[in-house]
This record gives sequence, C-alpha cells and structure tokens, in this order.
Amino acid sequence: MKHVIQFSGGKDSTAMLLMMLEQGMTVDEIIFCDTGMEFPQMYAHIDKVEKYTGRKITRIKAEKSFEYYFSEHIKNKGKNVGSVGYGWPRMWVRWCTRLLKQEPTKRYLRDMGVGNYVQYIGIAADEPKRHEGISKNTIHPLFDWGITEDQALRYCYKRGFDWSGLYERFRRVSCWCCPLQRIGELRNLRRYYPDLWEKLLKMDNNIEYKFRPDYSVEQLENRFTSEDLLSAQIKDKK
Ligand code: SF4
Repeated sequence: MKHVIQFSGGKDSTAMLLMMLEQGMTVDEIIFCDTGMEFPQMYAHIDKVEKYTGRKITRIKAEKSFEYYFSEHIKNKGKNVGSVGYGWPRMWVRWCTRLLKQEPTKRYLRDMGVGNYVQYIGIAADEPKRHEGISKNTIHPLFDWGITEDQALRYCYKRGFDWSGLYERFRRVSCWCCPLQRIGELRNLRRYYPDLWEKLLKMDNNIEYKFRPDYSVEQLENRFTSEDLLSAQIKDKK
C-alpha cells in the first residue's frame, strides 16, 4: 500500500506534508499537479520544500497546456466556432480544474492500481464542507488533527516558508490568472505582479467572452487606474 501526498504547494498541503514527516509517518510519494499557471514564487516554494525535506516531488501535467484549452481546443476539434477554446472558467464551469488537475491526478493514481494507495489531502479543520463525502482511500490529516487554515499557515511560516509574501496578498494561492479571485486580489495582482497582469490583459483581449461576468481585464485596469489616481489626489491634499 502506497501513501501518496497530494501536494498543491499551498499552506495546507505544505503543513500536512511537513507534519507527517516530522511525526515519522510513511510518505511514499508526493505528487504536484501543475496547471502551468502557478505564480513563479509557488514553483520556487515547491523546489524549496523538496530541498528542505530531501524528498522528491513528482510533477504531473496534463497533455495540453492551459492556453491550449483556453483558446484553441474547440477550434482544433474541427467545429466551426472560430478561434475559441473553453475561455475563462466560471464558478460552475471549472474546466481547468477538471482537465488540468483532477483528470491527470486520477490517471496517475489509476496507474498505481486501485486499492494500492492511500491518498492524503490537506483539508483543514475549518473546511468541514470539503471534508464531507471523503472517499474510502483518502485521509485528511489536518482535519483529523484539528489544524485550522490559519494554524497551518503559521506553522509553515515558523519553518521559513513564506511564499515570498503570496499569502499576504491572496487569500488562496493558485493560478495567477484565475477569474474567480476576489477584486482585492486582482488589485494586488496588478500592483505587485505587473508582468503577470500584462499577460492577463493580453489573454483577455484575445478572447470573445470576457474575464468575469462583471468586468473584462481592461475594465478592471481602468477601475484600478482611477482608484490609484484618486488616492494620489487625496494624499496630495493632506
Ligand atoms: S485556480 Fe482558477 S484557473 Fe486555476 S484551475 Fe482552479 S478554477 Fe481554474
């Protein structure tokens, strides 16, 4: 029976992995499913965890990239729909989670043979909804130990893992291009990661259905620019 850690690189799965190793629990394999759209700081974090633990993290990827499914997939299937793919994900249409995370992980685990592995997932104690319906060969150690999301983050910080400040700017750290982020997080993306923001503007300009139902990236750019101007004027008056 293999003990497989599902590692997203986020605070919960990082804390879970470190705690399991510190407690001497068996860890046979650590897998990270890469959408290709993580922050550069996240990739650096994953390398750092590998060095710190001395354990290899297996990177899994879907056959095609995010960009392909985003803008090319349907066109390439031969349907007469112009140069479109699935476009931006929506709350109930998260094609990227399915195609770039769930399916490659399922395939990888299936190759190990059903019944030959136990999967460990970093669901925290204050995420009871995500813990519900847990499957037979899955364990949520943080939930079982009563470790909350905040405790998991502080635990990682204490061991020198700070994601170069990502958790100070984003509530959840995943794909930088995710339209499901909050407005405040998108504001931070523009302010602190201007190169990624530029890429986001380009991606949105090349697609018919815009970034979010309420805002295209260009509209967000206009909103944030006006906000910056206003706060500069207020500062000047003080
Ligand atoms: S974080 Fe957003 S963009 Fe990335 S896989 Fe999940 S839903 Fe898709």
